[in-house]
Amino acid sequence: MPCKILFSAENWSTWEAPLRTALDETGVAYDLVSDAAPETVDYVVYAPSSGLLDFTPFTSLKAVLSLWAGVEKIVGNETLQVPLARMVDPGLTEGMTEWVTGHVLRHHLGMDAHIRGLKGKWRKDVPPLARDRKVTILGLGALGADAARALKALNFDVAGWSRSPKTLDGIETFTGDDGLAEALRRAEILVLLLPLTPGTEDLLNADRLARLPKGAMIVNPGRGPLIDDTALLSALDSGQVGHATLDVFRVEPLPADHPFWLHPKVTVTPHIASETRPASASRVIAENVRRGEAGEPFVHLVDRSAGY
Ligand code: NDP
Repeated sequence: MPCKILFSAENWSTWEAPLRTALDETGVAYDLVSDAAPETVDYVVYAPSSGLLDFTPFTSLKAVLSLWAGVEKIVGNETLQVPLARMVDPGLTEGMTEWVTGHVLRHHLGMDAHIRGLKGKWRKDVPPLARDRKVTILGLGALGADAARALKALNFDVAGWSRSPKTLDGIETFTGDDGLAEALRRAEILVLLLPLTPGTEDLLNADRLARLPKGAMIVNPGRGPLIDDTALLSALDSGQVGHATLDVFRVEPLPADHPFWLHPKVTVTPHIASETRPASASRVIAENVRRGEAGEPFVHLVDRSAGY
C-alpha cells in the first residue's frame, strides 16, 4: 500500500511537480495529496501558514516534515506526538548566505552613503579591508556556519557563538554567557541566525546591546523576537548601534505605523532573506519519506526539548 503524504502548506501548484519528481527518484510507493481524511495520512509536509494546528485526528501519522527551517510555531504543539523534522535545504542555505554577505559587505563598505548620495561633497571615507573588520554571527547551525565560512572566505575576521562548542576553520567560536559577552564585545557587525526559543527570546536586550562596540551594525535574518525592539530603538537613537538591517519582526507583516519603517538607521526587508527552494527542498522531504518507509532514522529532527 502506498504511503499517503498530505501537503499542508501554501502553493500546492508550485510544489506538486518537484515533490513528485523527488519522490519518484526514491522508488517509494506514495500517494501525494493536498486534501485527505486525517486518519489515512502517513506524512504531513507542513508550513504553519496552512493553519493546521490539531494533529489529534492524524492517528496513523509517522512524521511531520516542515518546509520551514524555523519551527517555533509548531515545536510546542502538544497534539503532535510523532517526529518533527525541520527544513535544511541547500537552496535555502545558499540564499541566506548571499543575503547575509550582501548586507555585511554593504555595511562594511559604507555603501549607503553613496547610494543615498554625497550631496555634492567629494568626501573620501576609505573602509578598512575585510581582514580588519570583525563580524560576529550568533548561531552556527546550517545557516550561520555557511554564512560564517563565506564571510571568512572574503577575509572578514569572523567569530561565532552557539549552544554547543564548534570547530570552524579560521573562525573563533564561543559558547555560554561569558562567550556571548566576548562575541558581542568584538562585533563591529553582528549577524543573528539563531532560532526563536525560550532561551533566545530577547537575547539582544539593552544590557547586551550596550556590550557592542559603539556604532555596531546589526543584521537580523533570524527571528524578530531575538531583539528587544524598544532597547534597539534607544540604542539606535543614542548612536550605540549604527544601523539595523531587519528581515524578521515580532509581528509580520510589520505594521504600517511601526517606527522601524521610517527610522533613518533601520533597513526593513520583508522576510525575504531566504526562501525554501522547491527543487532542492523536495529532495529533503523525499529522503525523509524514504527513510520513514525503510525504518531508518529521519534527518534534521527537531529536538523538542531544546525548541529547535
Ligand atoms: P540550526 O538549528 O541549524 O542552527 C541554530 C544555531 O543556533 C545552532 O548553532 C545552535 O547551537 C544555536 N543556538 C540555538 N539556541 C541557542 C542558545 N540558546 N544559545 C546559543 N546558541 C543557540 O538553524 P538554521 O541555521 O537552519 O536556522 C536558524 C534560524 O534562521 C531559523 O531558526 C529561522 O529562525 C531563521 N531563518 C530565517 C529565514 C529568513 O528568510 N529570514 C529563512 C530560514 C531560517 P548548536 O549548534 O549548539 O545547536
